[in-house]
Amino acid sequence: MLEIKNLHARLEEEGKEILKGVDLTVEPGTVHAIMGPNGSGKSTLSYVLSGRGGYEVTDGSATLDGEDLLELEPEERAAAGLFLAFQYPVEIPGVGNMTFLRTAVNAQRKARGEEELSASDFLKIVRERAKALKIDADMLKRPVNVGFSGGEKKRNEILQMAMLEPKMCILDETDSGLDVDAMKLVSEGVNALRDGKRGFVVITHYQRLLDHIKPDVVHIMANGRIIKTGGPELALEVETNGYADILSEVQ
Ligand code: ADP
Ligand code: MG
Ligand code: MG
Repeated sequence: MLEIKNLHARLEEEGKEILKGVDLTVEPGTVHAIMGPNGSGKSTLSYVLSGRGGYEVTDGSATLDGEDLLELEPEERAAAGLFLAFQYPVEIPGVGNMTFLRTAVNAQRKARGEEELSASDFLKIVRERAKALKIDADMLKRPVNVGFSGGEKKRNEILQMAMLEPKMCILDETDSGLDVDAMKLVSEGVNALRDGKRGFVVITHYQRLLDHIKPDVVHIMANGRIIKTGGPELALEVETNGYADILSEVQ
């Protein structure tokens, strides 16, 4: 279970507070969506959870199965079972995609006290999971994300997620820049990982992704806080009426 309580964070340099008391609990096996106007702090929340530099947590807590995430280094957070797919996946020149995946998977297994996968077992699993995401052998050999199209990068993130088998997945605007077919592929990839135990936080600007990845709970974030929580109908309300009504309700 992911538990975020009263999380406050500011930009290290400017000192500007971006997260102003985020409360969020994601139970195992559930899919939570976070929607909200641009600039409300959705990406900042995912960056702070990932441990990216440049942000300072000034109050509150974030735990995964009771483990304090904020105390851990980014790679330790990953080993603890947290996976983040960012809006803009990073390119890693000089590192082959397959090598990257294998290193990440084996580091993860080591952290869990499991044995490394043999080269042939790894190859078998990665090929099977890549195929489901229509990622061809050529893309597996190329440097991570270098020269990949927007859609290919997003599919590659889902492949990383499928290989790492995390406990909690956070996807920040995985749908942005995707055409309908790519969005379906990405959604199918995510849905294939829903197993009744794994939790998901799907951050999205548009309701349309939620037609494919059906959330259990929908949150609206604005001005650094979650201001409203409801069921899937809340996303439809936003699609029809925008955020104005919800924002004025809470003011
Ligand atoms: P969202 O993902 O909801 O669109 P963000 O988390 O990207 O929102 O941004 C929240 C606010 O923080 C915005 O006002 C944005 O301009 C500001 N912000 C985030 N990161 C930085 C940064 N590194 N420097 C300056 N402002 C930032
Ligand atoms: Mg934004
Ligand atoms: Mg964002």
